[in-house]
Amino acid sequence: MVIDTLHFARSAQVMDGQLPAISCTRLCQDLPAVQPGVFEWRLAGRTDAERSDAARAWLDVQARGSVRVICQRCLAPFDLELCVDNTLALVDDTAQLEAMDALESEGHGPETEYLVADPRLDVQALIEDELILVLPYAPVHDVCPGAEAAQDLADTNRPSPFAALAQLRKR
Ligand SMILES: [Zn+2]
Repeated sequence: MVIDTLHFARSAQVMDGQLPAISCTRLCQDLPAVQPGVFEWRLAGRTDAERSDAARAWLDVQARGSVRVICQRCLAPFDLELCVDNTLALVDDTAQLEAMDALESEGHGPETEYLVADPRLDVQALIEDELILVLPYAPVHDVCPGAEAAQDLADTNRPSPFAALAQLRKR
């Protein structure tokens, strides 16, 4: 699936679809081979009506779905929800991109992400790029299943404060 980014933005087009995690080979290259998740994605173009140059054209990118990862604490696989909600400002070429980045690194420019306008942008690759950006480097469970069981065991062995209170009341 290929779009002309500037045309897409200027004509305020919207596109959405589903992307199976298993087909995101770059996203999944270091992840478990079994990938049951499916990403729902949406791409919307828009422009600033007063200006016709590329600098005032945007792509809104959204994607949501889960990817199977290995918890880096307990080494068990689990499904991690990824959520992309980003806006990319289109620029005419790489030179403009570098100029914008230079401004930003000096603290003058706005905090914006840029994308070089492309007459043949691969939509799936763009969605996958955005998913890769939000994939944590070392994913971990909020609470590891093993840790929770260990914690429960610790709790049953420890006298509860309420039990201690009940003992006091008996006196
Ligand atoms: Zn874990």
